[in-house]
Amino acid sequence: MTWRLKLSASYIAILMVVMALMNTYPLLVSEDLVVRAKRTTLLGSAAAINAAVAGLDRLTGENVAEAMAAVEPEGVSRAIVTDSYGRVLYDTREVGNAQGYYLFYNELVEALQGNIAWYSVYQDGAFHSSAAQPVLYRNQIIGGVYVYEYDTQQAALLRTLQNNLLLVSAFLALVMVVVSLIFGRQLTMRLGALQTAIRGVREGAYNQRARLSGHDEFTQIAGEFNDLVDRLQETENARRQFVSDASHELKTPLASIRLLTDSILQNQNMDNETAREFVSDIGQEAERLSRITEDLLRLTRLDSGALETPSCVEVAPVLERVVRMLRPVAEEKGVAIYTHVDAGAEVVATEGELYQILYNLAENAVKYNRPGGSVRVYARGEGEATVLTVEDNGIGIPEEDLSNIFKRFYRVDKARSRAAGGTGLGLSIVSDTVSRRGGAVRAESIPAGGTRFVVTMPCIERGEGTL
Ligand code: ADP
Repeated sequence: MTWRLKLSASYIAILMVVMALMNTYPLLVSEDLVVRAKRTTLLGSAAAINAAVAGLDRLTGENVAEAMAAVEPEGVSRAIVTDSYGRVLYDTREVGNAQGYYLFYNELVEALQGNIAWYSVYQDGAFHSSAAQPVLYRNQIIGGVYVYEYDTQQAALLRTLQNNLLLVSAFLALVMVVVSLIFGRQLTMRLGALQTAIRGVREGAYNQRARLSGHDEFTQIAGEFNDLVDRLQETENARRQFVSDASHELKTPLASIRLLTDSILQNQNMDNETAREFVSDIGQEAERLSRITEDLLRLTRLDSGALETPSCVEVAPVLERVVRMLRPVAEEKGVAIYTHVDAGAEVVATEGELYQILYNLAENAVKYNRPGGSVRVYARGEGEATVLTVEDNGIGIPEEDLSNIFKRFYRVDKARSRAAGGTGLGLSIVSDTVSRRGGAVRAESIPAGGTRFVVTMPCIERGEGTL
């Protein structure tokens, strides 16, 4: 069942209830009011007749007619006076006069038993009302008074009211139907616009946006949908860029390998020495390829979010391993490495991740350094976090590049990075790993020369969801 149908069905249901109430309740109340008024006047008229014949010890046709000459019963179509057996002594009706006959109208029978009786009904476009009272003499019932009224005037008023109510409800129904049609159409149109945009994006048209005017909930949803598509487009662009950058990175060493193999194959007179040199170059290029693919795999794993369960890892032994690995390269370059770790400094991660973070930062600090330079690595506990700092007094990073160095494949000096065996992915891996573990990393230039990388990571284990 569509929402439009649901809305229309509820409109119709409400409309029907309102119409039914409108066409019954006021009519019932008015009818009741008329009936109450009738009761008062008819009982009053019966009492007036009763008063006229009161005092007679016996009722006869003559004395009743005499007494009745003095009263003019008000608002009454017919007035009858009977003796105690219900025989009519006096009847005001000229056609069908019942004088001399016995009458057994319900009200009259009740009156002859000593009660005041009353009845009124709205039927066939008229109010039929009757009232009856006993006539007493010294507490003896000597007769009965019966009055009857046939009223079409009030009934006509009631009918007019009924017709007007019907007219008003018909008009209201028409207005509601028109309004609900307009709203329904708008609803369908606005939903349709959203649906078209969603379908477009589903089919890959990321430039598709939902355009809705106004300030209602649909406009809000459209706005949120558009934001979502913006982000989707950004991610898609980043993915395309990444794929193109990665292919480009892989293409360069592959091209070198092909070139080298072609040279060996085509040059039949190549001496052994040169051939060995070429093969060693091929080996280096192959190593570069494997470094790039390893880094790419690491990043993909980080992107997919399939992380190992972290634990509190002590920084000191991991850093020791990193330094042990880097020392030969550092010594070769004439770079000194100094470390200081606060006792018990820990971070929440896996050992492999911490190693990767420290290794990538420290390796860069050595790689982009000068002979005689130094690298300092610190780990300090600061409340619920551990701050890892890797600083060097090397070549430094220009201010305008600082904000980009964490981007994939970004290098300040491409040639230097390649020469040093860099892939341009080291810092991306650091930044992705750190943020996956709920930390943050930033780079800053040291005024005296060199660069400082500051990593802040939680050192207290929380529930899995928070990390
Ligand atoms: P790469 O594999 O090229 O080293 P990274 O992602 O590790 O890639 O670093 C990106 C770029 O940032 C490097 O190419 C280099 O230009 C610059 N960089 C990183 N660390 C330092 C540093 N300590 N000193 C100077 N430049 C650095």
